[in-house]
Amino acid sequence: MICVSIARTRHKMMIAEYKEAAKQGADLVELRLDYLRRPPDFRRLLAERPVPVVITCRRGSEGGRFAGKEDQRQLILRTAIAEGVDYVDLEADIADEIPRYGKTKRIISYHNFETTPENLDIIHRHLQSLDPDIIKIVTLAEHPRDNVRVLELIRKSSVPTIAFCMGDFGIPSRILCGIFGAPFTYAAFNPQRRLAPGQLTFREMKDVYHFNRLNQDTRIYAVIGDPVGHSLSPHVHNAAFREVGVNAVYVPFRVTRQQFQTFLDDVEPLRIQGFSVTIPHKESAVARVQYADGAVKMVRALNTLVRRDGAWEGHNTDYRAAMMLLEAKLGAELGEAKPFSGRRVLVLGAGGVARAVVFGLVRRGAFVTVCGRTLERAEALAREAGARHVSWQQRTAVPCDVLINCTPIGMFPNVDEIPVSPGFLEEGMVVFDTVYHPENTLLIKEARARGCRVITGLEMFIKQAVLQFQLFTQEEAPEELMLEVARKELSLSAFTRSES
Ligand code: NAP
Repeated sequence: MICVSIARTRHKMMIAEYKEAAKQGADLVELRLDYLRRPPDFRRLLAERPVPVVITCRRGSEGGRFAGKEDQRQLILRTAIAEGVDYVDLEADIADEIPRYGKTKRIISYHNFETTPENLDIIHRHLQSLDPDIIKIVTLAEHPRDNVRVLELIRKSSVPTIAFCMGDFGIPSRILCGIFGAPFTYAAFNPQRRLAPGQLTFREMKDVYHFNRLNQDTRIYAVIGDPVGHSLSPHVHNAAFREVGVNAVYVPFRVTRQQFQTFLDDVEPLRIQGFSVTIPHKESAVARVQYADGAVKMVRALNTLVRRDGAWEGHNTDYRAAMMLLEAKLGAELGEAKPFSGRRVLVLGAGGVARAVVFGLVRRGAFVTVCGRTLERAEALAREAGARHVSWQQRTAVPCDVLINCTPIGMFPNVDEIPVSPGFLEEGMVVFDTVYHPENTLLIKEARARGCRVITGLEMFIKQAVLQFQLFTQEEAPEELMLEVARKELSLSAFTRSES
């Protein structure tokens, strides 16, 4: 079940919002009475309630807004129970003072906005001694392993327990608590009404993570990176799981460079079946695999980890996607068996994506020139891969048949930037922009206008995700749907999303 937290200052708005949440499919609503400007009118709030209600009235020390005296607050909670609300949230220190009455279920809660303390078991045992129907433990995650620690509490508990972490590092636990047996999770009414750091919205919980479909057999997949909050991958992979009928969920794990050293061991109790790996872990992840495919060995970077027979396999679907798209564009349209042979390719940028593209194209017989803002980096890549290099200033002095942008130039919000002057683009040239937000970058628009054949970054993003999905599930990926979902998400968040 998903419980939508409603926090409004006026009764009228609180009622309107919880009715709307129920209409949209919320199973339960939490009315945050500490947000109300006037004392709560229970008759009004609870009349014709469309779904069960949790009553919460939080003090400032636990992230709430209640400004009155403590005895007033406790009176509100007692009145809620007398009025027969479905659930009441009682903090541990007051639980003994407010007796059980009628059918109202007691949620005995503990909140920690500073850390996930070491003594979680002791806290859980204490809450269990306070006559709970449900135990709720919410802490701030400072490390990915905090997710595992709170989730294990749920698994071990004999009393129904909701346990999750706040903050960027804690997002997985808000979703995965459904797999571990939490009776429900909490979500915000909409993006403007997030009540705690890292809180997901009802739409995200329901339509992206399909929370109500999670069960103990659900397999877990994840994207790891830093930052990872705006990744499109959870949208695309979860939609694909649902479409193909795979009982799996895909969650975002923020993992810093330092945390990555022990990350796979830290989250081992979750038995995560596969990862998408993004910046800054693509190179360091190579050392963690027991098997690396040919592309990983060549490029020495990976973007996919798959658990197979107790070991980690590393794959590079960025590489395979880029090569497949270029092959299709050069080969199928020109009808040539060796489409890269003798082609002059100019690669802009010398980072991770450039590395995959340069190694792949040199191997296929293309004449590749690397052009990087930092000359030494471009030079090093060119030397390693057997390509040439030029300085950034000379980029348009190099004639080419294929131009590939592997820099973030043109990426949202800098959508009016272009890495070469439009006059450099000639009819018949293949222009591949790896930037996918926006889908139609200025480079892509100018290239189309001049009769170039184009490959967009979104095509590459979807192709690498399709290949990843197949590695994860051994099933055919619903490519059209994945593209549709990615386009929809990009347009929904056109003004907020940075690429990751
Ligand atoms: P990266 O490792 O950080 O490399 C970025 C490269 O771009 C570096 O060589 C950097 O130069 C250069 N650069 C950055 N800003 C520049 C500027 N203003 N002018 C000139 N050069 C600049 O990143 P990456 O992983 O290779 O990703 C590169 C781009 O590929 C991303 O921005 C993203 O748009 C795209 N991408 C697409 C997909 C997809 O599936 N479509 C997947 C991953 C990435 P220095 O060497 O001087 O730092």
